[in-house]
Amino acid sequence: MRIAVLTETHPGEARVAATPDSVKALVKAGASLTIEKGAGAKASFPDAAYEEAGARTAARATALKDAELILSVRRPDEATLAKFPKGAVLIGLLEPHDGKAFADACAKGGINALAMEYTPRITRAQAMDALSSQSNLAGYRAVIEAASIYGRAFPMMMTAAGTIAAAKAFVMGAGVAGLQAIATARRLGAIVSANDVRPAAKEQVASLGAKFVAVEDEEFKAAETAGGYAKEMSAEYKAKQAELVAAHIAKQDIVVTTALIPGRPAPRLITKAMVEAMKPGSVIIDIAASAGGNCELTKADEIVEHGGVKIAGFANLPARLAADSSQLLAKNFVNLYPLLKDEAGKLAPHWDDEIIKGMTLTRDGKVIHPSFGG
Ligand code: NAD
Repeated sequence: MRIAVLTETHPGEARVAATPDSVKALVKAGASLTIEKGAGAKASFPDAAYEEAGARTAARATALKDAELILSVRRPDEATLAKFPKGAVLIGLLEPHDGKAFADACAKGGINALAMEYTPRITRAQAMDALSSQSNLAGYRAVIEAASIYGRAFPMMMTAAGTIAAAKAFVMGAGVAGLQAIATARRLGAIVSANDVRPAAKEQVASLGAKFVAVEDEEFKAAETAGGYAKEMSAEYKAKQAELVAAHIAKQDIVVTTALIPGRPAPRLITKAMVEAMKPGSVIIDIAASAGGNCELTKADEIVEHGGVKIAGFANLPARLAADSSQLLAKNFVNLYPLLKDEAGKLAPHWDDEIIKGMTLTRDGKVIHPSFGG
């Protein structure tokens, strides 16, 4: 199978969909890879490393010529998509929640598009789950960003010149990113608390040594979908949650927000008034920035200062540790590869497999994913 990997076209994207390690694994599985020249440069993977691993590096047009499978971190831009060979399979984080236009363009070009965001949350698919692999690193990086923006230390320090108090960190949303943020903040010595609307999160938070702070009413006890995601909560629950959070947040130095509901704008959890109740010097890192933000004052890709509180809206945290995030994402693709070929190694996606079925946006010129009414 001929696989192409291009330089990402999304502004600011530093990740790449293949690494020298993933090239080795795919070549061993019978694939031939062409990587666009310079595709891995921002993630510290030079062309020579890909060549050594068994790939060819070439200009974009050459990489695309005859490509059967195109691995991509994000959606390619329109001009690039228009150059994809008809019948090719495109796999990546294609942002399927962001309307139908991209899927329509793929269908029109005869591209069979598979969105990694729709990897089903079943045990067999865990090793292919790009949302998890990237969220985990985003959670880690959010705390590192917080530590670098915060003008104080995280751990308690007893020095001859006096004692420094430990930072208090609050993580909102204890999914994959949130749990990693909790673990990272704990490792740095902060006193950590967290919340979530899914009851299953309570035990996980406690097992990481953090305090769980949530309204635990009847609605909370039922607030998880069969797919393991959060449900949108009622207005009443949100009001009760806001009251509890307002009192808690005023005492925090660091707040990391990670709350997301698939396909919906991020829930608004921190109002301007709550920010105004925080101490000057406190830091909010809003991981949900790209979905509109959990904080009312968040601006994507900016650090906003309000009354001495800094609110950072890094919209693409995984790209801020591009070598590791590329490595994990590329491994997700390697793990998915057996579901894309037949025994002879030819491109033959297992369309009826639950995982491929869940991910398929377009096939044979048609938009078929149920989320688009397909
Ligand atoms: P996510 O990125 O969709 O959301 C992040 C977190 O925000 C979630 O924990 C969600 O419950 C929480 N949230 C939503 N609204 C909130 C609110 N109003 N207040 C506070 N928190 C709120 O979720 P995720 O990180 O992808 O993971 C969700 C769950 O799925 C986790 O338990 C995870 O372990 C599980 N998971 C399972 C698999 C698998 O089995 N293959 C793969 C990945 C994740």
